[in-house]
Amino acid sequence: MLKLNDSVTRIKGIGEKKRRLLEAMGISTVYDLLGYYPYKYKDRRTVIPAADAVDDSDALVCGRLCRLHNRQLGNGRSMLECTFEDSSLRFHAVFFNMPYLSRSLAAGKEYVLFGKMRYRNGMKVWTNPEICLSGSERDIRGIIPVYRCPRGLTSSNLSGWIKYALEHTDMSSEWIDSIVIAERRLCGIDFAFRNIHFPQDNVRYRQAKFRIIYEQLLKYQLAIRLRRRDIEMGETDSSVPPVSVSPFIEALPFELTRGQLDSIRDIEADLESTRAMNRLIQGDVGCGKTIVAETAVYKCAVSGLQSAMMVPTEILARQHYERLNTDLSAFGIRTALLVSGMKASERRATLDAIRDGSVNVVVGTHAVIQSDVVFKELALVITDEQHRFGVNQRRLLTEKGRGVNTCVMSATPIPRTLAATVFGDMDFSIIRSVPSSRKPIITRALGRSGRERAYAHAAAEVREGRLVYIVAPSIDSEDTSMQSVNRLYSEVSSKFRGFRVGLLHGRMSGQEKEAVMNDFSAGLYRVLVATVVIEVGIDVPDATVIIIENADRFGLAQLHQLRGRVGRSSLQSYCYLISYSSSEAAEARIKAMVETTDGFELSEMDYALRGPGDLMGTMQSGTADRGILSLCAYTDILEMAVADSSYIIEAPERTDMEYVREFMDSHETADNSNII
Ligand code: ADP
Ligand code: MG
Repeated sequence: MLKLNDSVTRIKGIGEKKRRLLEAMGISTVYDLLGYYPYKYKDRRTVIPAADAVDDSDALVCGRLCRLHNRQLGNGRSMLECTFEDSSLRFHAVFFNMPYLSRSLAAGKEYVLFGKMRYRNGMKVWTNPEICLSGSERDIRGIIPVYRCPRGLTSSNLSGWIKYALEHTDMSSEWIDSIVIAERRLCGIDFAFRNIHFPQDNVRYRQAKFRIIYEQLLKYQLAIRLRRRDIEMGETDSSVPPVSVSPFIEALPFELTRGQLDSIRDIEADLESTRAMNRLIQGDVGCGKTIVAETAVYKCAVSGLQSAMMVPTEILARQHYERLNTDLSAFGIRTALLVSGMKASERRATLDAIRDGSVNVVVGTHAVIQSDVVFKELALVITDEQHRFGVNQRRLLTEKGRGVNTCVMSATPIPRTLAATVFGDMDFSIIRSVPSSRKPIITRALGRSGRERAYAHAAAEVREGRLVYIVAPSIDSEDTSMQSVNRLYSEVSSKFRGFRVGLLHGRMSGQEKEAVMNDFSAGLYRVLVATVVIEVGIDVPDATVIIIENADRFGLAQLHQLRGRVGRSSLQSYCYLISYSSSEAAEARIKAMVETTDGFELSEMDYALRGPGDLMGTMQSGTADRGILSLCAYTDILEMAVADSSYIIEAPERTDMEYVREFMDSHETADNSNII
């Protein structure tokens, strides 16, 4: 018998090569494999009379094999011709280059065929259909799962292995309290996995899906409650001396907004208290969260305590580093940058300075949480754009210091009730106001015919000394209906003759990206053609126009993030959303973008428009927190999970809490954000 946490290599048919492919998909255990859900199903339950098969469409038929004939075509190629009959008529199938098939087919027996039917010489012919002996083990009838898979794997590879795993894995133990199981009428894990992959009917499929969503949400709720309790029960004093931050704030070239001041006040109170801070600062793009973070860093640094700031991309790390360096060095506060692409000697020197305390604040990507990073006295950890990091990554960082204060900055506006559940382990501050000097960004939706107007306007802005972003969904694209940055780059270069155009995408190295970003913010490049790598947090105040090509291909949250790259100063800014073809759903998103610039409003609309996505899409979207967020759209199930987690926390002995802790530990979320 296999166990759920056995390696996938124990499954028949998975050797080293397949193992590596699976690993790249985030699948290494049997449990991971069973948790890889189909993204759709093919309903192949009903056989039709061959007479009803329609030209050029898939049809599932069943007939007795009357005759078969294998023909050599030369060059080692062959063709197997078969004639079948069902109660309605005679029909034919041809198989190319499958000589072995002729040995396994027997005249007189009944076969099931599936595939596309075409008329040839007035006869109905299936070419290379799927075929099986009727009623055999490998019968192709039923509800067939379809899996997304990378090159080198097929959907039927996956379904075969999953079938094997379902038959050979021991899933008899249950981690959830049996009282809860009974009350919620949860089906067993075994049943759930079976019916999510190979549903026998709709009722069982829904029971399975319910269990899977409920289980994920419950696990997540329990994990954050455990974490919160760990923090509260921690006995270390994490207080920071009550030094005033006024010198820093008074030196700023602008007045802080109400929301910024409120957040700073919340943070100061948290820092001064003996209990560790654990706060989420939510605020729309451009509301000025970085200053709030810097103020917290300042407060720690003046007392000789260190801070770390973790951001999701290298570009962002470099930009924050520059900003902190500029703003804080006047106060004698030393900032260091820690990213993965550094030279070994440079890295070593930085690590030494962090260890001996001569560096006050470190800005970095995941490099900050690596085990060789040792702080002298870490007091504060700030995570920017937190939805890209999992609970566990945040935790790794707080483990680097005793009683570390954590502050998470998020520009993902989440409806408040949802936020309270998803981030139930945190306190909240919300920045609702944007700096009053800002003018709302003017947003226009254009089709192919209006496209030139957008570019003409962008060119006019460039001549005024402003900067322009042009965003496309892909790097290279064969598909002519999809814009790619490489194709756009040459078009744009000739459109903006006389001005330099930069190119930015995720296949460039960290250093290349940094150089391009720097040259763009310095105004050397006046136009930047980029993929969504610019999505998160980049701040270039002189940029006033963003043109988003194939806007229909982006999600609402993403469009809003992209638009937030402009309108970051007192200049009037513009956002052009260009789509070439679009669905009703895409039109609704674009309409919402044109109608409002309020991120909170857009997030409410997003949930309404999107609804609960398909299970596969939501649970395997790359980052666990985001996956959980999408599952929260199942509000009724979420409410059950929240209520049950309160009960379980009070009576934990009937639930396998070790399992929840293991989940917390392995809840690693790879940062896939800068691949595109
Ligand atoms: P975000 O919340 O999206 O991270 P940033 O912190 O990057 O926003 O701030 C966006 C821009 O607004 C920066 O250039 C910053 O200097 C500026 N800014 C921040 N606060 C204010 C303010 N109160 N008044 C004017 N400009 C501000
Ligand atoms: Mg930011």
